[in-house]
Amino acid sequence: MCGIFGIEGREDAANHVYLGLYALQHRGQESTGIVAWDGARIGLERGMGHVAEVFPAEVIARLAGRRALGHTRYSTSGSSVVENAQPIVVTTSMGPIGIVHNGNLTNALTLRKRLEAEGSIFQTTSDTEVILHLMARNPRAELVDSLIVALTEVEGAYSLLVITAQGLIAVRDPHGFRPLAMARLAGPNGIATCFGSESCAFDLLGAELERELEPGEVVLVDGTERRSYRIPVAGTPRRCAFEHVYFARPDSVVFGDPVGEVRRRLGAQLAREAPAAADIVVPVPDSGLFAALGYSRESGLPFEFGMTRNHYVGRTFIEPRQSIRNFGVKVKLNPVRALIRGKRVVLIDDSIVRGTTSRKIVGMMREAGAAEVHLRISSPPTAWPCYYGIDTPRRSELIAAQKSLEEIRAFVEADSLAYLSVDGLLASLSGPRASYCTACWTGDYAVPIAGEDRRQAELFPAESDLP
Ligand code: SF4
Repeated sequence: MCGIFGIEGREDAANHVYLGLYALQHRGQESTGIVAWDGARIGLERGMGHVAEVFPAEVIARLAGRRALGHTRYSTSGSSVVENAQPIVVTTSMGPIGIVHNGNLTNALTLRKRLEAEGSIFQTTSDTEVILHLMARNPRAELVDSLIVALTEVEGAYSLLVITAQGLIAVRDPHGFRPLAMARLAGPNGIATCFGSESCAFDLLGAELERELEPGEVVLVDGTERRSYRIPVAGTPRRCAFEHVYFARPDSVVFGDPVGEVRRRLGAQLAREAPAAADIVVPVPDSGLFAALGYSRESGLPFEFGMTRNHYVGRTFIEPRQSIRNFGVKVKLNPVRALIRGKRVVLIDDSIVRGTTSRKIVGMMREAGAAEVHLRISSPPTAWPCYYGIDTPRRSELIAAQKSLEEIRAFVEADSLAYLSVDGLLASLSGPRASYCTACWTGDYAVPIAGEDRRQAELFPAESDLP
């Protein structure tokens, strides 16, 4: 999963992108990069780590221009090395191009093998580079036309930003798996246009959210001039419902719904579907917070911050020897014993992936003196991998694909366990039910993955951070 942000028409564009990426840091912490167009050349800075680490002021100062874009990466395709950090910049017969991508292409490997057989030389193992090679093979006077031709060949999930001498281009794939919105930023020299994965990035800059790009829409901005195009590929909308469950920030508006409000509705629906005889409702922070509020209000059970999270555990944390049991979870989460002791607890989390983290958290609650632990999950059982850009592991590692509900309850050692239903999840979202992707719960993949690409995805799923 990744965060992308771009701006056209503002002095210090790179500084604005830096702030936008800062707000989107939750979408990827592995690497980050920014490119800017100064009217003559594209400048690129990128590196491994968080936005604040990679971009001290002197690095940002090297990126001049009124047009810039950037990326924060958590790899779902390609390995975790700086060569795969985005933006990717190339020089073509149409001029320099820089690109950033949120999502995952489902036919990238098939396309790559074909392109390599035809003589293309790839710089990275990232799926995104395929788009640039397809563009280089289909040059057009208007670069946006070359991009649209290239996109008729790629399949899967992609929200893109592309920087060129002709303007800043934003794209959402025909299914609209990943979010991408545009905003206007008023300034002393006129209106600038911003694009970002989530609206929280616009809030930080004081930009006004205008709208999401439509699935299959391409928007070109050059100065204050905007033009909209369509990718000529049929596709029914399949917006990723997991963005609402877990990924997006609660202060963002995604797919037209405020994320925190949706999470409260998920929690309320869960309380109706799976009540529990208990004394308190406790969230697993942070992603369970809003669902727990909804559960508490609907059930009438008091909400308690019965668990705290250490927000300062960074990527540089080195796990000590195995002999210190459960250290990995304990360093992030700790129960508030005075609130837990002797209580029957409804513990709210957003999902169970492998089950090992849930088991540790339930164990922590018991060690803290909970009389009973009733685990409630604000999404359905995750039983299928995501091929569209979320880093779920292979099916054999997903506990809900391998065990029954009772077997999972026994594994995590909860007194009871219940998940939200798929119907309950979709009823909590404001859009038409069929417009959301639910494949990781239902196995209903809108874009199938086949051949080499499927074998690759099954053999080498992205390293997952999900519990
Ligand atoms: S499979 Fe799940 S995580 Fe992936 S896009 Fe669909 S809903 Fe989102």
